[in-house]
Amino acid sequence: MLQTIRTESRGFAAGPLGTCRADWLRARRHRAKSFSPPAAPAKVIRWLANMIVAVHPLAGFDKVLHYRAPEKLCAGIAVGSLVRVPVVNRFTLAVVSQLDPTPDCPVEKLKNVAELVYPFPALTPELLSLARWIAAYYAAPLDTVIEAMIPVSVRKGLALKIEKRLAVARELSVEELETLNRRAPQQAKLYAFLKLQLHPVAKSLALERLKVGPSSAAALVQHGVLREIDHRIERVGYGDDLGSAEPVAVIPPELNLAQKAAVESIRASGAKGGFAVHLLQGVTGSGKTEVYLHAIADMLQGGGGAVYLVPEVALTPQTVARLRGRLEQQLGQRVVVWHSSLSEGERLDGWLALASGQARIVVGARSAVFAPVRDLRLVIVDEEHEPAYKQDETPRYHGRDVAVYRAKLAGAVCVLGSATPSVESVNNMRRGRYLHDVLPTRIDDRKLPRMHIVDMRHEIVAKRATSVLSRLLIDKLHDRFEKKEQSILFINRRGYSSSLLCQECGYVAECPHCSVSLTYHRADETLKCHLCGEVRPAPLVCPQCHSPKIRMRGLGTQKVEEHVARILPRAKVVRIDTDTMGKKNRFREILGEFRTGKIDVLVGTQMIAKGLDFPNVTLVGLVDADISMHVPDFRANERTFQLLVQVAGRAGRGDLAGEVVVQTFTPQAEAIQFAKQSDFDGFIEGEIKLREQFRYPPFRHLVHHVFRGDNAEKVLWVAEQWKKRVEPLLAGAAELRGPSPSPIERVQNEYRFQLWYFTGSVVKVVGVLAKEQREFPWPEGVSQTLDVDPMSLS
Ligand code: ADP
Ligand code: ZN
Ligand code: ZN
Repeated sequence: MLQTIRTESRGFAAGPLGTCRADWLRARRHRAKSFSPPAAPAKVIRWLANMIVAVHPLAGFDKVLHYRAPEKLCAGIAVGSLVRVPVVNRFTLAVVSQLDPTPDCPVEKLKNVAELVYPFPALTPELLSLARWIAAYYAAPLDTVIEAMIPVSVRKGLALKIEKRLAVARELSVEELETLNRRAPQQAKLYAFLKLQLHPVAKSLALERLKVGPSSAAALVQHGVLREIDHRIERVGYGDDLGSAEPVAVIPPELNLAQKAAVESIRASGAKGGFAVHLLQGVTGSGKTEVYLHAIADMLQGGGGAVYLVPEVALTPQTVARLRGRLEQQLGQRVVVWHSSLSEGERLDGWLALASGQARIVVGARSAVFAPVRDLRLVIVDEEHEPAYKQDETPRYHGRDVAVYRAKLAGAVCVLGSATPSVESVNNMRRGRYLHDVLPTRIDDRKLPRMHIVDMRHEIVAKRATSVLSRLLIDKLHDRFEKKEQSILFINRRGYSSSLLCQECGYVAECPHCSVSLTYHRADETLKCHLCGEVRPAPLVCPQCHSPKIRMRGLGTQKVEEHVARILPRAKVVRIDTDTMGKKNRFREILGEFRTGKIDVLVGTQMIAKGLDFPNVTLVGLVDADISMHVPDFRANERTFQLLVQVAGRAGRGDLAGEVVVQTFTPQAEAIQFAKQSDFDGFIEGEIKLREQFRYPPFRHLVHHVFRGDNAEKVLWVAEQWKKRVEPLLAGAAELRGPSPSPIERVQNEYRFQLWYFTGSVVKVVGVLAKEQREFPWPEGVSQTLDVDPMSLS
C-alpha cells in the first residue's frame, strides 16, 4: 500500500498549488526577510551542503530517527515538514522534528530523506510542541497524536483536482488555416473556437460542445498551435451537507456597551501581544457571536490567523453562515469550514489553503484546533462548557483545553464563550488566570423567558397515572398553536436511566461517600457506586415514602411526538433525532420548514438545543429534566443547569416573549431552582463549594482507567493486580479508587471495570502509568484505556 501512496504523491509533488518550487522558495526568502533576522551565512552554507534532520515516523512506533537531507531537498525542509523516509526496507511518512540535531550514529551511516511531500511544513513548530504536550498529558503515543493533527487525505498526498484547459499558443496564417480546413476540418473547428475565447477553456467542455475528438486537440498541441494548461480546481468544502447554509451578509450592527467593552478588552490583549484567555460570559442571545466576529475582523487587520471552534458544525449552520457572510462577502477573506462530512478532496484543499497561508480562518469542531493556521493570533471556543469537545477515542484530548494550550504556545488570545461557563473555566477566572468579559443582557433588552417548573409528582397524583406531558404544558401547546406561534419540546437523552428515582416523593439513591447517584444493576438487583465501589441491595419500595414507583424510565422522542400529535391533531409535529440526523439533507430541510413556519411543534433531543435561533418560537418544553440530574456523575448538576439555560435560550429570541416549561420529579433541586432564576453566580457558588469539599475537578484532576474483557472475573482480577502494582508507585501523587464495575457494566459482551486516580499532577501520574502500561504483563483477553480529565464517567 505504501508503494501506491508513494507514486500518488510523486505525481502530486510535481506541482502542488500550481506554483513551482522556485516561486515558493522566493516567497519563503521574502518571508524570512520580513519576519526574522537573516541567518548567519556560515550556517546557511552548511545547511545547503548537507543537512541532518531528526524525524518522528508515523508508522506505529514512538521513536526519533535521523536522516540526511539530500542537497536538492535542503532548502525546502523545515521543522514540521512532512517527508518520506526509508525505514528498514520500506518507506514511511514522518514529520521533521529538528534540524541539525546530533545524531545517534555516525553521519556517514545515515540514509537520505526520500521525498519532501509538501513544499511547506505540515505542522508548525507550535503544533509540534502541542503534539508533544498532548502525548504526555493525555497518555497517547506521539504518532497517533500527529496522525490526528494531519488529516488522512493530506497524509496520503491525495491528488489535487486538475482541470485540463486549452488556449491558442500560436496564431495560424490564412494559408495555414485554409490547409487545416481542408485536411482536418475538426482541428480547424477547435482552433477557430478557441481563437475567439478570452481565456483558456476547459478541454472537456470545448471538445464536448464542438463534438470534436481528443485526437484533434492532441494534434494541435503537438504542433504547437494550442497549449494545454493544468488548472488546479479547488474543492471548497462547505459540503453539500449540514454545514452548508448559504452565507448571510448582514451589515454589522452597532455594538451595545457591553459588547464594545468585551471587544475592547480582547483588542487590548491582542495589542499587548502574548498569551491571554478571556472568558466571555453572556446570556443566550446577548450577542457573543457578534463579539467573536469583531475580534476576528480586528485580528485580520493585523495580519494574523484565527481558529473558531464550535461543538458541532452540523448543528450550528446559522453561525457558519453568519461568519462566512461577514468575513467572505464583506471582508473578502476565505473561511475554511472544517466538518465531519467533508470529502477527502475538500479536506485536503481546505487544509492546503490554510497551510500555505491562502486562507487564515478556520471554523470547525474539535479537530479544527489542529488546523495549520499561520500566525495564529486568535482562538475562539464557543460553548466552551460543551462535553462534545472531548474526544472519546485515542488521543482523548479536550478540544477546549488544547485550544488554550495552543494559544499559549502561539502567544495568541483565546476567547472562551458561554452562557453557562464550566466550573473549570470559572475557577480559572477566579484565580486570575482568565480575564472576564460579561454580556449581562439580551440584545435590545429582550427578556429572558419565564420558566415554569412543573412538579410531576403532583401530576401523577392528579391523574392517577404516569404522564408524559403535564397539564400546563398541554395548555400552553394549545395556546401557541392557536396563536400561530411555534414550540419546541426537548427530550433529555444524555446519560442513562439507570438510577433509582421515586416518582411519588422524588427520592434518589445516592452514595454517602461520593455525592453521586448510585447505579441500579438489574442483573443482581443491587445499587452500586461506580466511584468507590459501595454496594447495597436495590430497594423494592421507596425508602422514604414506601411507594413502589421507584424506577426511572427514559422517554423516546417518538413517544413524545405521538403524544403531541394526539393532543394537537391539526398541528404539524416533526421529530428530530439520531435517525433524522443520519439522513443527509433531512436535518437542514426540517430546520428550513421550521423557519418558514410549516412546522408547529418540533420534538428533539437536547442535541438540537445549541445555537438555533428562531424568532417565532415562544414556547420551549423540557419533558424530563431529571434524566441528566440523577446520573452517577459529579457533573450531573452542572449539566442539568447548563441544559436548562441552553434550552430556555431557544425561546423568545424574536420580538415575542418566550416561556419555558420544565417537567421534573425533583423540583427542589438546586440546578433547577437556580436555572429558574437565571442565577448563574448563585449556582456556580454552591457547585464550586461542593467540588472543593469532595475535591473533585477542578480541585484535582481525574484519570479514568477502564479494563475490559469477556471474562468478568479475569478483568476484575487484572484490575486488582494492576492497582497493587501502581498504588505504591503513585503514593503521594494520586489517590486511587476502585476497581468497581462501570455504570454500564457490559458493553458488546465485554465486562468493564474501572479505576480512578485523583491527582494534582496529571503529567506525573500519566508518566508513571504509561511506563507501567508498557511493562505490565497484560494477559490475553483483557484490554484497557486511560482517559485523562474524562467528561463522562461511564
Ligand atoms: P449569542 O451568540 O450570545 O447567542 P448572537 O451574537 O447570536 O448572540 O446575537 C443574537 C442576535 O442578536 C443575532 O440575531 C444577532 O445578529 C443580533 N445582534 C447581536 N448583536 C447585536 C447588536 N449590537 N445590535 C443588534 N442586534 C445584534
Ligand atoms: Zn418515595
Ligand atoms: Zn461512592
